Amino acid sequence: MNFTAEDIAEITNAKIIGNKNILIRNIAFDSRIIYSTKNTAFIAINTSKNSGEKFIESAVDRGINVIISEHHHPQFENITWIIVENSVEFLQRLAKFHFENAHLKSVGITGSNGKTILKEWLYQCLWNEFPTVKSPKSFNSQIGLPLSLLQINNSHRLGIFEVGISKPNEMEKLENIFHPQIGLLTHIGTAHLANFQSEEELIDEKIKLFKHSETVIYNGDNSLVDKKIKALYSGKKLISYGFKEDNEVYFKNNISKNEEVTVHYFDEEISFPVHQRDEATLTNALALVTVLKELGIDNEKIIEKINALKAVEMRLEAIEGIKNNIVINDSFNLDLDSLKTALQFLNEYNKPKKSLVLTDIVGVNSNSKELYEEVSELVNEQKFDSVFLIGDEISKFSELFKAKTFTFINTQELIESKNLTEIENQIILLKGARKFEIERLKDLLELRKHDTVLEINLNAILHNINYHKSLLKPSTKMMAMVKANSYGLGSYEISEFLQHHHIDYLGVAFVDEGVELRKKGITVPIVVMNPEQHSYETVIAYNLEPEIYSFRVLELFYEAVQKSGYDKKYPIHIKLETGMHRLGFKGNELDQLSETLNSMNVKVQSIFSHLSSSDLPDEKEFTLHQLETFEKNSSYLIEKLGYTPIRHILNSSGITNYTNHQYDMVRIGIGMLGESPNSEIQKQLRSVVSFKTVISQISTVENGESVGYSRRFKTDHQTKIATIPVGYADGIPRLIGNQVGNVGIHKTLAPIVGSICMDMMMINVDHIPNVKEGDTVTVFNAKPSLKEFADYCKTITYEVLTSISPRVKRIYIKD
Ligand SMILES: *Cc1c(COP(=O)(O)O)cnc(C)c1O
Repeated sequence: MNFTAEDIAEITNAKIIGNKNILIRNIAFDSRIIYSTKNTAFIAINTSKNSGEKFIESAVDRGINVIISEHHHPQFENITWIIVENSVEFLQRLAKFHFENAHLKSVGITGSNGKTILKEWLYQCLWNEFPTVKSPKSFNSQIGLPLSLLQINNSHRLGIFEVGISKPNEMEKLENIFHPQIGLLTHIGTAHLANFQSEEELIDEKIKLFKHSETVIYNGDNSLVDKKIKALYSGKKLISYGFKEDNEVYFKNNISKNEEVTVHYFDEEISFPVHQRDEATLTNALALVTVLKELGIDNEKIIEKINALKAVEMRLEAIEGIKNNIVINDSFNLDLDSLKTALQFLNEYNKPKKSLVLTDIVGVNSNSKELYEEVSELVNEQKFDSVFLIGDEISKFSELFKAKTFTFINTQELIESKNLTEIENQIILLKGARKFEIERLKDLLELRKHDTVLEINLNAILHNINYHKSLLKPSTKMMAMVKANSYGLGSYEISEFLQHHHIDYLGVAFVDEGVELRKKGITVPIVVMNPEQHSYETVIAYNLEPEIYSFRVLELFYEAVQKSGYDKKYPIHIKLETGMHRLGFKGNELDQLSETLNSMNVKVQSIFSHLSSSDLPDEKEFTLHQLETFEKNSSYLIEKLGYTPIRHILNSSGITNYTNHQYDMVRIGIGMLGESPNSEIQKQLRSVVSFKTVISQISTVENGESVGYSRRFKTDHQTKIATIPVGYADGIPRLIGNQVGNVGIHKTLAPIVGSICMDMMMINVDHIPNVKEGDTVTVFNAKPSLKEFADYCKTITYEVLTSISPRVKRIYIKD
């Protein structure tokens, strides 16, 4: 976009206080991740949940001088104000105007699952065919969609945008802003179904997006969808894809057997290899092919692009570097938009100094002078200490960069210069086009090489949280349980991420865990579920909130409050016993409890209980009984207290199975890590944890020889055996040795043979072609999944995760 304040006022009927002629090219809505203040306005978005106006101050501190807000706050000086009636409607009006005046081809993607992955795939396939703009992350809502549309600029020829709804009547508003020429409807699933009368109503709502589309591409396996689209949109070009052969686009051969799959597209056939054969991936591949065909990409190119997809690891990863550096590696592709995303990501870290490695931008047909001018302006605003430019193109413009700037012909030359390895205590962003292979710099800068790692995908956690939120009322708060080091994954890293995404509460088991979070800067309210009696002073000193489950604890804790000199009402959380028989006050204690509480200078912040069997359909009657007891006892206590604390009882499977009992808050644990006992829900969640290692050695073991301690495995023919460097000291239980458990290599299961050793184990790889030393081994993630791995161990996923030894390096990934 490119508007003056006056243009904006005219388009949206807003009022200006200040400079009418000021130019606005970006709108920032999150004051924490403003990467550029130049021509940037900050919008204070007010929703029913939150007022963005409290963040105006921090935006102004960052140097923003245009604020869009529903109210004028004259205490901030030298600011141009665009005063709007309703911040969300403002965004929508502006985005509508901007979209309608931008002449680009547009693809609009809606559906329950697969929107983001399809958008990213399409983008990967198309960005070097046409200048393409896409929604960032999964920005697809009433606010996310307008912000995405506002990113369109003159040079873009194609826009790929996601559109998401969760309630009736939302699509009409979105379609009014954005009417894509090509509409794509992915799978319709159960997400948000709870907010609709029926599946039919959900479908009717989603397909409203295509009201003005010329072409509608949809998953035709759902016959209701097929019927409705054909009835409503008979005048449009309709293309259905799916597994059923009555679709226009489907798989021809038996997809479970062959290396290659053949897509039947009308009367053409397109074949390519696929490496993941789950239903969701294959269906998405059909949708991808269909949209690419519709955009006129020829078959040969489609195959080439699909082949390239698998090589792409599309993510921003943060790694611990040598010399106390943090290294952000983003070596997928490089264009202006992805550079902006990376700079935003950089702003989430607070290291005082930063450096940048940046390569030529390739494959973008624009005037290079203009392009690099814009790049250098963006870069200059970040105040990098040093900038390392790689490539002859960008090097020509080195004068434009204000930091200490160095130029190199290629990545090798930078490695040889040793410039990078001298950097200390900084955050280093590696941003380059693929052909420069700057991931080699990551190897150079990474602190320790770890063959065995536990990778934790933070974006998947966010996805899983949002999925659970989508089942709840918008006003319901959420507590994330980060006890036991966040189920073994790292409590600080996860809490910091959740705090950034506005989690309402965190729950820890013991005081030490809460203290560690506070010391590292976590400010969200933290509940300690099991405050030990010697720790009450620490609870108070670190502003933690205890669970109170008995009179003994209440009295001891209150003594500590009085001693501490704390003079306000101390927030506490009352646990009720409703059938689990672990901790809590019983029904007959409530009179005495309310009297005691009312005589103390404390505030009951919440009243809660815990379900013992919310995951078990067979225990529904018992669970309903627990819920009933909670309702009765909590209501009674509230009446006696004379004020209304928040109430909560649901854990993750409670959220999915007993949504009606959400009260004011829910407590999510394993669900945010992507695990659900319900297979339908499981499909909606993303896997968060990946336990990986590499093959140390491969041996050919002759017929009749033995493998490992105590000779527990003997070969009955010449067998290829691989050794991997994880053992029971890493948390792999010894009982899954001797062909009980498997690990994954090249997406094939390989049985563990012989006894598991302390630091190593052996696996049979006889049936895996082309396996070689150094190959990656998946202990669990997709194949085997965490759940399957837990089954080998005859335990639950919770225990598997919390048993992984601290010596296994945790790394955190954001998409
Ligand atoms: C651990 C815990 C939870 C979370 O349980 P999940 O099954 O992992 O969702 C919720 N509430 C309490 C009190 C807990 O201790």
